[in-house]
Amino acid sequence: MTVYLNGKFMPLEEAYIPVLDRGFIFGDGVYEVIPVYSKHAFRLHEHLKRLQSSLDGIRLNNPHTEAEWTKLITGLVAGNPGDDQYLYLHITRGVAKRDHAFPQPPVKPTVFMMSSPLLPPAPELLARGASAVTAEDNRWLRCDIKAISLLPNVLLRQQAVEAGCAETILIRKGNDATGDFMTEGAASNIFVVKNGTLLAPPKDNLMLPGITYDVVLEIAAANKIPFQVRKIAKSEVLEADELLLTSSTKEVLPVTTVNGNPVSTGKPGVMFARMHSLYQNYKREVMRQP
Ligand code: PMP
Repeated sequence: MTVYLNGKFMPLEEAYIPVLDRGFIFGDGVYEVIPVYSKHAFRLHEHLKRLQSSLDGIRLNNPHTEAEWTKLITGLVAGNPGDDQYLYLHITRGVAKRDHAFPQPPVKPTVFMMSSPLLPPAPELLARGASAVTAEDNRWLRCDIKAISLLPNVLLRQQAVEAGCAETILIRKGNDATGDFMTEGAASNIFVVKNGTLLAPPKDNLMLPGITYDVVLEIAAANKIPFQVRKIAKSEVLEADELLLTSSTKEVLPVTTVNGNPVSTGKPGVMFARMHSLYQNYKREVMRQP
């Protein structure tokens, strides 16, 4: 595997960072995950835009222009086997004496990128659907930043694994006016389907603005699938006709059990079937463009 670290491509075994890197010490950095199909980075501009807003969120200058990122990413894709890959980009505030406040003067950020093989979800999983548990969303209030400090997400996802499930659906405690509401998955966005309408939580500070989430809503709009973007109550998750999970590596998956109970019939529904097939068509179409 060829990785990129601070200006150089190298084998993974040769990539090392100093222990005083602020990513290691404080989790002071941001990241991106970009799927690559047929050697083309999918929605690259949108991923780089989200990277920019994550960097703005932690007040770190972008070390590269979009043209530079594009060139580096092209090099990384070419240097790794397989037509379908997923790229991990990671930027930290660099190496400095341990002190919470930003290093003064600023130091060079650490830039790391790697590629892994991208495997589509197994046909059995698409046929059967994934299982999920719910848990209280106890993360911070800037979940819109794709921060490398993922300890809450790690602990929340582990709850799913220990319950034999694929994902944890996160529920924020609300106030008397809102009640408890759903934000997203520990590493995915979640949509509810009710009476033929796709419901999506609003992109705010409490969830990561998923690139796949945007694609799903664009597909819904283009195909006249009714959808609403609004706060989704916990009860609507538990009483959904269907639940869909989206992420760059999982694309669109049906969630068919929650907390051990079937979602409606307990089988992937018609909205999933339609969205999954439209998503595959959309991907093929985009990949045909130069
Ligand atoms: N929310 C969280 C917390 C995530 O970690 C991810 C992806 N890893 C997503 C949503 C989905 O985002 P995307 O569609 O851009 O992969």
